[in-house]
Order: sequence, then structure tokens, then C-alpha cells
Amino acid sequence: MIIVGGGQSGLAAARAARDAGLRPVVLHAGTEPTGSWPDYYDSLTLFSPARYSALPGMPFDGDPDRYPRRDEVVAYLRRYADSLDIEVRTRTRAVAVHSRPGGGYVIRTDTDDELAGIGVVAATGSFGNPYLPALPGQSEYGGDLRHVADYRRPDAYDAKRVVVVGGGNSAVQVAYELTARARVTLATREPVRFLPQRIRGRDLHHWLHVTGADRLSRAVTTRLVGHATVLDTGRYRNAITSGELARRDMFTRFAPDGVVWSDGTHEAVDAVIFATGYRPDLDYLAPLATLDHGMPQQVGGISTTHPGLVHLGLEFQRTFASNTLRGVGRDAVHVMAALAARRPPRVFRQGRRMLAGHPRSTSPPAAGSSRGRKMR
Ligand SMILES: Cc1cc2nc3c(=O)[nH]c(=O)nc-3n(C[C@H](O)[C@H](O)[C@H](O)COP(=O)(O)OP(=O)(O)OC[C@H]3O[C@@H](n4cnc5c(N)ncnc54)[C@H](O)[C@@H]3O)c2cc1C
Repeated sequence: MIIVGGGQSGLAAARAARDAGLRPVVLHAGTEPTGSWPDYYDSLTLFSPARYSALPGMPFDGDPDRYPRRDEVVAYLRRYADSLDIEVRTRTRAVAVHSRPGGGYVIRTDTDDELAGIGVVAATGSFGNPYLPALPGQSEYGGDLRHVADYRRPDAYDAKRVVVVGGGNSAVQVAYELTARARVTLATREPVRFLPQRIRGRDLHHWLHVTGADRLSRAVTTRLVGHATVLDTGRYRNAITSGELARRDMFTRFAPDGVVWSDGTHEAVDAVIFATGYRPDLDYLAPLATLDHGMPQQVGGISTTHPGLVHLGLEFQRTFASNTLRGVGRDAVHVMAALAARRPPRVFRQGRRMLAGHPRSTSPPAAGSSRGRKMR
């Protein structure tokens, strides 16, 4: 079983694989299996309290009602990976996945290895594939234009005129943070829609948990909460209402030195930050021809084109919580059940090839043993 990506999704997959009697190998492009968390902006604080932010089997230390900071999440994931006792190959990027005649897959890496496995878990997140819209005049814009994936802290923007584009959590948080140092406008297609962080004195995640709303599909969740996207204690709404954080309808085009707003006014702008989301980062699956305009063809994380290929960490993969620390463990158990039910191909060794995913012992499992049943 090869897991591509050593973030929360890859680690949740590894735990579920191990629990299903499979032997996972995690390939991870980074230096340690903490996913993209070290690369998120410095001030990032989880929007869910610690008690609703844990992966299966290991609660966060400390006050369960606090909102852990980015670096606490990094430390938590490091501890989680250590606790799993699984093989993680860091500094190893999967570059191509091919079907193997007779079943299973072969994965080529940038370290010039080839690994064979009965199944592949694509757990590479989306942070490596930021989405940038293309607006008229964009290529002639001479200011600082970047995606929020490349934003770390506000000090580079002192006294600058900045436009942040987007109506989601990152856009609002970054724009708000910048108001202390820069002249900022938040540019959105429609007014920002807020979700209350606290309801009747309890965090929203408490209610998601006790009502079961966290386990609902995208369609049902959207019916319940509409398209509200920004979690807020009231701070962001107040900032916009009071004018502390200016909001305008999205500008229509770039000028060489700024932007042109929808009412035709031109404004000089030093920097534009696009907080316009991400797309799944799945280039290495190209040889399988399973992507449709870059998006995986899957239901609930299970590929509809390739048996033995599963996904984890996709937005709304199964529920509202799929792409979160608290939700990915449930999805991991779901996709792993599909993989564990597959019969592994015969073990083979050839050159630098290795087979991953067979039971820990190479001797056949005893008839009727649970491990034998799981592998059939
Ligand atoms: C700004 C921001 C704030 C967020 N806040 C929260 C929050 O408060 N609470 C919450 O639960 N969720 C939050 N999320 C959502 C989600 O939990 C994170 O995005 C999380 O990092 C996703 O985990 P992942 O393991 O799916 O992907 P990632 O964390 O991106 O990990 C995937 C890893 O795979 C590696 N990789 C990529 N390609 C390859 C390859 N070809 N071969 C090998 N390795 C590869 C990458 O180096 C990366 O480290 C937030 C997301 C963002 C962007």
C-alpha cells in the first residue's frame, strides 16, 4: 500500500491501513511528515478547538477548548507520525503512477525508485496547486501579485496599498491582519457570508458534533448553511461594517500600476493577494488518465476509473469535515476498507522494485484468520 503525501491525510491513511492489516509506505516530498502546515501563514490559528481537531487515537495536549496555533499543529503531526511506527520516506516525491499488468500500481519517484503496491492513496492535498484566476491586464500589472499560499506575515506590506481578493477564511483573515500595517481593501464577488464561531456559548464545532451535521454531504450542508464560508466571532463582520476593513465588489481588470474597479475608477495598488483557493495537486496521476480537468473521478474518495486507487483530503470528499483534521480519519477508514478488500498480487522483486501493501508476514495467513479475510 503506497500512500503519496505525508500530511494529516497521509497519516490518517497510514493509521487506517495499519489497522486493516496492510503495510503502508508513505512517500513524502517534504522533510518531515507534517504536510503543508509549516508553510501556512504565521498567524494561522485553527478554526476548530483542540478537542475537535485531532486525528484518530491521539488527542491534542493541553486545554481542549483552545484554538491551536499553526506550529502546535506541526508539532502534533510530528508526534502523530512517530506514534504510528510506519515507513515514511521523506524528500521523496512521486512523479508518475502506472497500472501494473496483473493488478496494482508502480510508482516512480524523483529519487529514481520504483515501488509496487496493491493500492495507492493519493493524499497530496492542494496547497501545491494554488488557483489563480486570469483577469484582463494581469500580465502587464507591475505591482506585487501573489497567491495567499505565498503570504507569510504582514510586515512586508508596511504602509502599502493592498487589495486582497476572495471571500473565504484565508482572504478575510489575511486582509484583517493587514489592516494594522497597510491600507487594505477586500475585493469579493458578493458580500462576505459569515458563520458564527460561537452559538449559545459553545463553539460551532460542538454543535456540528452533537447534531451530526459534521457527517452530512455537501448537498445537505449547503441547504442548511447556504454558502456561508467565513467563521467569525464577530470581529471580522464588525471590521467590515465599521469600515476598518474596506470591502468592494471585485475589480474588473488590472492596470499596469493598479486595478480598475467595477464602477470604472482606476486606483494605484502596490500589491494584490489572491486568496482564491486551490485545486487538488495530482500531476503524478497523469499516466493513469484518471483526471478530468485536473479533478479526480471518484465517489467518496474511491476512484471510479481505477480499482485500488483512492483519494483522501479532498474538499467535501464525503462530508463537510473531509478536508479537516477532525474529519479525515473517518474517510481514511472508509477508503481503506475498499483497498483492504482487494487481493494483493503475488510478491515480486525486480531490480530496485519493492512491493508494498502485502501483509506484514510473507507466509500465507492461516485459513480463517482475520488478516487473511481482510486481504481477500
Ligand atoms: C490557510 C489554511 C488554513 C486551514 N485551517 C484549517 C483548520 O483550522 N482546521 C482544519 O481542520 N483544517 C484547516 N485547513 C484545511 C486542511 O486541514 C489543511 O489544508 C491540511 O493541510 C490538508 O492536509 P492534507 O494532508 O490533505 O494536505 P497537505 O497538508 O497539503 O499535505 C500533503 C503533503 O503531500 C506532499 N506532496 C505533494 N505532492 C507530492 C508528491 N507528488 N509526492 C510526495 N509528496 C507530495 C506535500 O509536500 C504536502 O506536504 C486549512 C487549510 C489552509 C490552506
